[in-house]
Amino acid sequence: MTILKICEFPDPVLRQQAAPVDVFDEQLDKLAADMAATMFDAPGVGLAAPQIGKSIKMIVVDHSRQEEAPGVWLALVNPEIVAAEGRQCDSEGCLSVPELTSKVNRHRKVTVRYQNLQGQPQEITAEDRFAVVLQHEIDHLNGVLFLDHLSSLKRHLYLKKYKKWLEQQQN
Ligand SMILES: [Zn+2]
Repeated sequence: MTILKICEFPDPVLRQQAAPVDVFDEQLDKLAADMAATMFDAPGVGLAAPQIGKSIKMIVVDHSRQEEAPGVWLALVNPEIVAAEGRQCDSEGCLSVPELTSKVNRHRKVTVRYQNLQGQPQEITAEDRFAVVLQHEIDHLNGVLFLDHLSSLKRHLYLKKYKKWLEQQQN
């Protein structure tokens, strides 16, 4: 397995609308496994393909807690939220937006329809923290970052802070 390079904001790939996946082959399997390895290495709890520079509709998520076993992950291909209810507001960060975390409004419970790595249709219902992860990663497939959910004032302050951080990195 290969640890992939994570693209960071303002990389334009993070703003693209990802393309649907229609070929379910060994290459897709390998990409999913590499994305999972990259996610656990980061460490993070979810990773979307655009974050490693591939603008396709696939995400991987840490599924250890749900399966009660460490290192278990799930790949969701062409995921789509088909039902959502409730509200929650919890702290979020993003591997593509280092250094920043913020409270974000999300649905408390979502049902996601997707295909597994064999192309078979599946459905999963998630609540609480796991529901946040799914909503965050699916956003990435639409070029949306958690910053976009903040008020414009807060987003402005965050981007200023981030720009300063980027400049420090370059020095
Ligand atoms: Zn993210």
